[in-house]
Amino acid sequence: MKERTDCIFCRIAAGEIGSDLLYQDNGIIAFRDINPLAPTHILIVPRKHISSLAELSEDEATLTGTMVNVANCLARSEGIVERGYRLVINCGREGGQGVAHLHMHFLGGRQLGNQLG
Ligand code: 5GP
Ligand code: ZN
Repeated sequence: MKERTDCIFCRIAAGEIGSDLLYQDNGIIAFRDINPLAPTHILIVPRKHISSLAELSEDEATLTGTMVNVANCLARSEGIVERGYRLVINCGREGGQGVAHLHMHFLGGRQLGNQLG
């Protein structure tokens, strides 16, 4: 798959930039966030460059379910499935998205706050 040379997550997916990779298959990679906001902070990222959730086509919508499946596997491998965890997708400027390549945050390992925004 042709990666975007100007996109940090495409470059991580292509192996051009190192990451603490925890999972990979043909469609998805997961690696630890470089600036963790919780003891477990993992990014679950489709290999395909989709710039945001808003750009996800109807045909591609099942990708989000696949990302949730990966998150649930990671919860088990990280040993926090019983304690609980949070999945977040930021979309666009007001949604707080900084990297313009669709990704899901997996957060866990501490008590997270009640506030969402
Ligand atoms: P956003 O704010 O777009 O939802 O989240 C982007 C996340 O990507 C941030 O939590 C940020 O710390 C993380 N991030 C940005 N650049 C890199 C990088 O080069 N490597 C890793 N592992 N994480 C990154
Ligand atoms: Zn990209």
